[in-house]
Amino acid sequence: MRRSGAWLGPALCVLGCTAVFGAVWRGTDGALLAAAGGFVAASGFTFLLFIWWTRAHPALARPLDFSHALDLVRRAHGARLAWIVGLRNGPLESAPPDEDMAIAWRRRGASVVELASVDGREHIVRDPEGTYAAIGDFPYGAGVLLGGGAADDQLTLALEDLRRLLAGMRAAESRAPDSQGHIVAQQLAIGAAGAQTLEGIARAGAELAQQSAQRAAVIVAREDDAGTVIAVSHAADKRLSGLRLLPDAPVSRAMATGLPVVTQPGGGDDVLGALPGVPDRRRRDRAGAAYPLVDGRVVVGALVLAGPAIEPDSPAAERIRRLVAELGPRLAAAKAVHDAKRRAVLDSLTGLANRAEFDRVLDAYRRDAAAQPPPPASLVYVDLDLFKRLNDTLGHAAGDAALRHVARVLESAVRDGDLVARIGGEEFAVWLPGAPLAQGLEVAERIRASVHRTAWRWDGSAHALTTSCGVASYPAPIRDLLNLAAAADAALYRAKQGGRNRVEKAVLTR
Ligand code: GH3
Ligand code: MG
Ligand code: MG
Repeated sequence: MRRSGAWLGPALCVLGCTAVFGAVWRGTDGALLAAAGGFVAASGFTFLLFIWWTRAHPALARPLDFSHALDLVRRAHGARLAWIVGLRNGPLESAPPDEDMAIAWRRRGASVVELASVDGREHIVRDPEGTYAAIGDFPYGAGVLLGGGAADDQLTLALEDLRRLLAGMRAAESRAPDSQGHIVAQQLAIGAAGAQTLEGIARAGAELAQQSAQRAAVIVAREDDAGTVIAVSHAADKRLSGLRLLPDAPVSRAMATGLPVVTQPGGGDDVLGALPGVPDRRRRDRAGAAYPLVDGRVVVGALVLAGPAIEPDSPAAERIRRLVAELGPRLAAAKAVHDAKRRAVLDSLTGLANRAEFDRVLDAYRRDAAAQPPPPASLVYVDLDLFKRLNDTLGHAAGDAALRHVARVLESAVRDGDLVARIGGEEFAVWLPGAPLAQGLEVAERIRASVHRTAWRWDGSAHALTTSCGVASYPAPIRDLLNLAAAADAALYRAKQGGRNRVEKAVLTR
């Protein structure tokens, strides 16, 4: 259709012009008039064709303007504010023209919508200023701030319209002339296969980088002055996965300065720095380039490509540049969700599971037990001995350090699949699914002995730490899972009464 529209106009023009020139050459008035008329008709016809063609392709005729649609949705639902994100022209906000909306609401709404765009879910947040409702379909997100306590059906209607808006955005942009950056975003979304998690996006980024550059790729998340490898492409060394990198590694330098760092093949300098856990790294994998991944002005990580540097003006370099630009903000948003989830289940002082997570795991075990009798399990309560005295003599900071030390000892005393949680000030719980009493006692004794034996140093001198443990096991001697915690607590109490630094087991109950 585009082609026929394109040649028909000029062809008619040429025909008209030839007729006019013919008429002028012959000099007859009537022929001149007829030829001029033909010319005008041909122009009109061409113009009509153009109009018809642009009507048939509205997305191409007008710029992709969703601000009007967003305004309509906001007004239709009496919302105070409305947002969309993910469009290649940048995010949009709609607000009533005559009202000044608090900057805090605007930021809050925008971040709720950003979150929805990344995790692809519905988010309803009820705050004093109203209810934020947002939905996402990566990379798009849309949301409104409804005044007052929005009723459920009001929310449902608003979410329905927002969903339509998202569908419209996706459809319009897929018809629009291609934008490389947006294609990369979509490829990332497809690669992450709907899992808009930190790992999912990082893995999709690593694979896409490998495809684009034909080199093994690694994604590093920045942490303090160094970083951790969170994804490796399939051609990369799998041993790198999860490795913590050193602050003096070239990749850490790239993240600290915000500038790419390249190490040369002959230089012997590993772009990922010294990796004691990964001996015998191939020389060609050690050379590489580290590109900082940036969200706004904050460096959130790095993309590392193994092998010789890419030609700066090559198509591969352009694809990598697009990918780097896309990955930064996506990783940052996914990391925010990831960190929030971790904060919800982890104890901030020790990094162990927190009380809520411990309760959740035990509840899940009990729920499963209702369906069919579960395998045996043991619960060990561990309490530091005379910890108050340590706090009083060495100070609270020393107490905190001692708690972190004990947390590490506990972790190293158990197997994968066991759960170690800090359930109170200086109280820990160790949940050992599959372990009957004898095994539970063994683990508790190992914990007691290692805390006692492992030196804890503070201010240059070693201090003795001891723990008392109470062990309760299901189904023997404790037949009811609901009594397990109380039985472990009672056993712990007896260990304290018996002189501390010892293990006691629960006694038979009904
Ligand atoms: P016992 O052997 O009978 O368990 O004696 P204890 O001193 O360990 O027990 P008690 O329950 O009397 O004191 C617990 C102390 O743990 C009180 C408080 O100073 C300390 N504590 C609790 N939470 C924290 C914390 O987060 N950090 C620090 N530094 N100390 C804590
Ligand atoms: Mg204590
Ligand atoms: Mg205590």
